[in-house]
Amino acid sequence: MFEEFDMILVGIGEEFDGNEKAPEAYKKLAKMLEGKNIFLVSLCMDDVIYGAGFDESRIVAPLGGKRFKQCPDACTHDLFSVDETVCPHCGKELVFNNILAENYVEEGYLPSWEKHKKWISGTLNKKLLTLDLGSTLRFPQIVRFPFEKITMINDKAKMIRVNEKLWQIPAKIASKAESVKQSAVEWLISL
Ligand SMILES: [Zn+2]
Repeated sequence: MFEEFDMILVGIGEEFDGNEKAPEAYKKLAKMLEGKNIFLVSLCMDDVIYGAGFDESRIVAPLGGKRFKQCPDACTHDLFSVDETVCPHCGKELVFNNILAENYVEEGYLPSWEKHKKWISGTLNKKLLTLDLGSTLRFPQIVRFPFEKITMINDKAKMIRVNEKLWQIPAKIASKAESVKQSAVEWLISL
């Protein structure tokens, strides 16, 4: 169903986080996007997207996850493997490197974020699909709003937004967007 597009920007919303059906939905999506020039922006913190069949160099998860640890005070911006327990600099017990950390060390995702920004700048004048799958308004500045903006400024772009509760599309992109009022996980499985 994505044949007509050169590039596909995918937003993975919170609905996938901890959802037992998410692995099946990811598998379906990975298969549909095989061989395509894609980038995935995930709002999940359960890391299930890693190992789900996507090229991991094309995933950014700005809220972090449980793949790395950090110092709770961010006394160092170093990241540690999950096997390590205490900060070698201040001796405090390490926490997972995600937004729930009191002093979130953003170095965990910033390199992929830079890569994603560069990728976005290469979408101008390309047939781009922005696929917003179940993002909420908790962090709209990561998926929801930028996806709308990117769709608006690119004449060849189209958007598909799949969301059970927040399916609405702003009027300014209504002519180039399609909205599916359904859970994104269920939608993928049903395709
Ligand atoms: Zn420390």
